[in-house]
Amino acid sequence: MPIYEYQCEKCEHVTEVLRPMGRADESLACESCGSKKTHRRNSEFAAGASKRGCNDLPPMPPGGCGRCGDPNGPCGM
Ligand SMILES: [Zn+2]
Repeated sequence: MPIYEYQCEKCEHVTEVLRPMGRADESLACESCGSKKTHRRNSEFAAGASKRGCNDLPPMPPGGCGRCGDPNGPCGM
């Protein structure tokens, strides 16, 4: 189950929550101030989780990242 982040528009607190993908667009009350005015941020899950972690690995050989499968080349560049 992916983790989603919701940022409060009042206090900018980010609330993280585990929820099914089908409920990703449901609003979530801010856990800090209780405001319902929150908007979902692109979580790392949605914004390229495949690249996450590769930054800590040694440089990839030319021709693509063999570990994350990125055809554009070694990730983390
Ligand atoms: Zn808040």
